[in-house]
Amino acid sequence: MAEETIFSKIIRKEIPADVVYQDDLVTAFRDINPRASSHILIIPNKLIPTVNDVEEQDERALGRLFTVAKKLAAEEGIDQDGYRLIVNCNAHGGQEVYHIHMHLVGGEPLGPMLVS
Ligand code: 5GP
Repeated sequence: MAEETIFSKIIRKEIPADVVYQDDLVTAFRDINPRASSHILIIPNKLIPTVNDVEEQDERALGRLFTVAKKLAAEEGIDQDGYRLIVNCNAHGGQEVYHIHMHLVGGEPLGPMLVS
């Protein structure tokens, strides 16, 4: 059984977060430490720790991450200039919170994909 993270508490509204979207499958909220002027995390409501744990039955929720990313990018006004969607996995990927999340980052030129 995977261990819950702080993101489960955000989904259940047990701790405060700037939630910008929620439905039966996903929740989106602003990153507490934004790396650009727009930085939103979009997560499945179901606890899936990493991409390595994804199962076929998760496809609907994980597909929803993209449709919500598109909607939020438009709402943020960053869709035309562009943005980046990032999913980190495990230590080498830089994952800190073990509840799958898609970073929606934009609002300025983001530079090369990998920075040292
Ligand atoms: P990762 O490195 O796992 O891909 O990204 C985790 C992200 O979650 C980081 O960008 C971090 O700032 C964000 N984060 C960690 N704890 C919290 C929290 O309690 N609230 C919010 N809103 N964001 C968090």
